[in-house]
Amino acid sequence: MSILGKVHWAVFDCLTGDCTRVERLPFELGSDEGVDLRLNGPGVSPKHCAIAKVQGRTFGLIRRDEQAVMTLNGHSLDFHELLPNTDYSLLIGNHFLLLRGCAKPDDWRAQLDHTVWSLFNPATQALEGALPLVDLCRSALREGWSPTTVVVPRGAGMGFYLGQAAGALREQLPADAPPADDFADPATAAPVAPADSQHGALTCPVCWLHFDAGDVMHVAVHDSLRGDPVLGQDAPLRFQATQFNERGQALDAFGLPCTDIACPHCRRVLPPGFLATRSSPQWSGASRCWASSARCRG
Ligand SMILES: [Zn+2]
Repeated sequence: MSILGKVHWAVFDCLTGDCTRVERLPFELGSDEGVDLRLNGPGVSPKHCAIAKVQGRTFGLIRRDEQAVMTLNGHSLDFHELLPNTDYSLLIGNHFLLLRGCAKPDDWRAQLDHTVWSLFNPATQALEGALPLVDLCRSALREGWSPTTVVVPRGAGMGFYLGQAAGALREQLPADAPPADDFADPATAAPVAPADSQHGALTCPVCWLHFDAGDVMHVAVHDSLRGDPVLGQDAPLRFQATQFNERGQALDAFGLPCTDIACPHCRRVLPPGFLATRSSPQWSGASRCWASSARCRG
């Protein structure tokens, strides 16, 4: 019987296709000889992070080194609880990993294809392209896609930022591609807007793409309404409201009033009063502050 019960955890390498089973806890990842999954190259600490039980209870991914940068689902974190039957994307140095715990990791592995990647087009809400990652990056950069565009290997429920992928593969990309430094932090990088995101009266303070008030999305409140193609299956559902209560609040599919609104492009929650204060001269500076804190909050 597994020490983890009926859920078996595995780590999939999205660049090589290697899949490693988590056979013991803690499961250490890093560049050290003794770790359970050995990673190399820049940005990898000897003991980088581990899948472990914290305080004997909460199961999750924990950062092991103060210098280490552990980017889970696009956010730099110290710790994150891991739930079964959920894909997590983990970026360590130039290693693009997926984590999942489920009854049959082999079945999960079988439906993943690290050689075929797509990008998520927020305008069409669809995955586009089916190319090796380096080719997808090359054509996406040529077409001017934002570094915060999400790219996913076939079969994965969680992706990575185009900027992260382009940074990791920069040696294989054309010399006239935007410098990798522009991609170091997708949330602060100068956005290169897709053509259909350049018009609209409003500007998102996170991704800086434009949209009109009518395109704003609402964030569902009921706990069972989850899943977003950009933010992942844990995120509350974003939707365009068709029903409102007498106070003008959007209602989700369970009839609960929703007060949070989100950007239709990057799907991040917009700051309180966003629609009311957008014309204030203070807006730009305040929103920049908000955007950087929102990045940490997820
Ligand atoms: Zn946005």
